Amino acid sequence: MQMLRLLRFQPRVEVSTINSEGRVERVGISLWEPDASFKELPKKPPQCAICGDIKFNEGERLSALLMPRIVWKTKDIDYLIQVWVHPLCFEACIETSEPDPIPW
Ligand SMILES: [Zn+2]
Repeated sequence: MQMLRLLRFQPRVEVSTINSEGRVERVGISLWEPDASFKELPKKPPQCAICGDIKFNEGERLSALLMPRIVWKTKDIDYLIQVWVHPLCFEACIETSEPDPIPW
């Protein structure tokens, strides 16, 4: 199992903050390659979620799940967004000892 990593900066894809009433407390990320049963999921934004660059070299576009945690009123709300990332951008994220959020 992989461990969850945390972004050092705000992600470069849109993160919903519930009509701007919530605040992004942190953003987790883990690598995730969806199998064929997930092909109906919404398309990923084209850019790297970490650096925002849309250019990827051959073999350097990794599929990942971004997990923003939004604090809204007194609740913590985690949700998942499918994204692309560069291997080096992912490696630069902060390692944690939490398991990744992928439940399947
Ligand atoms: Zn990147």
